[in-house]
Amino acid sequence: MLNKLLRTGAAAVAIIGALVTSATAAEPEPRAEAAELTNPLLYAIAWRQTAAEFRALYYQGFALARLRVEQALAAREAGTLGDARPLAVITDVDETVLLSGAYWGQLIADGGDFFDDATWDAWVPSNQFVASPGAREFAAFCEANEVTLFFVTNRDQGEATFELALGNLQAAGFDNARADHLRVLRDTSNKEAVQAQIRSDYHVIASLGDNLNDFARRYYVTDVAAREALMHEDAARFGTDYIVFPNPTDGHWIRAIFGESEPAPTDANRRILRGAALGR
Ligand SMILES: [Mg+2]
Repeated sequence: MLNKLLRTGAAAVAIIGALVTSATAAEPEPRAEAAELTNPLLYAIAWRQTAAEFRALYYQGFALARLRVEQALAAREAGTLGDARPLAVITDVDETVLLSGAYWGQLIADGGDFFDDATWDAWVPSNQFVASPGAREFAAFCEANEVTLFFVTNRDQGEATFELALGNLQAAGFDNARADHLRVLRDTSNKEAVQAQIRSDYHVIASLGDNLNDFARRYYVTDVAAREALMHEDAARFGTDYIVFPNPTDGHWIRAIFGESEPAPTDANRRILRGAALGR
């Protein structure tokens, strides 16, 4: 019995010794890999790429949009709409009807941890956008009911911006996306002038977007609390006039934190991001 205990004890010591030896003998991980594993974008991108909830929110948003259109059609039929102009819906493009998950996956693979405008501009012509869940069905529903779906986006890939945006929509399956229903703003992210122009000719049922700026410019503020307060003031408009889609990677919520929409990948900005996560 004693022998057995001694043998067991010796074996345990040998195993522990081996563990200690292997632990101390392990090579330190390369710095690059450590950075890859602590990339602050990982959770957001993993959510975008894998969470069924992310995609379900698109179905939810478009179901709500369809309900709003159905209500407007019924009101028109009943003669209670009070507006004889043609019906329209205004939608943003990126991360509203088109998803750019492959771009973000590539950014992570290349070691990036902040949005990078140069790689984005190079990626846009590759036509790897996919339609968000429910978007094409919603577009088809609008078309079948003679409701014009206007695509309003601010993008800038130079002279080709408009053709690229139209091509991205068509390549993602928006076969009926037409040039005359697409508005591309290259010089500003302020969409209000073009929205007002559409509203002067159409009864706009609802606006769709992943950024509060898609609904109103007043949200374009560089203060997290102020932006939040403005949103609460408009609480009754969400789900009615404004239908919001999820975007954990870019948008003016980033600008509210950093003071700019496309902050540089610096440690100072990583500290600001950490501060935001801590609610500072
Ligand atoms: Mg967008």
